[in-house]
Amino acid sequence: MGYKAACDRCGGRCDPSPALLAQFSPQFFRTSQLAGDLSEAGYNEGDTVTLCEECTYTLLIIDG
Ligand SMILES: [Zn+2]
Repeated sequence: MGYKAACDRCGGRCDPSPALLAQFSPQFFRTSQLAGDLSEAGYNEGDTVTLCEECTYTLLIIDG
């Protein structure tokens, strides 16, 4: 059984597994003004963000 997850960016299924799993750091969430915007969008301290292969590539290579 593989890890089944949906991509937080495009909503697509991550198959066989997410390319990137990232967690908001407590320090970031407690000190950054950006954390307020993320909180309004439904994210919280310690939440894990899941990205599929294509979205990871876009984030790190295309947009990076
Ligand atoms: Zn995606």
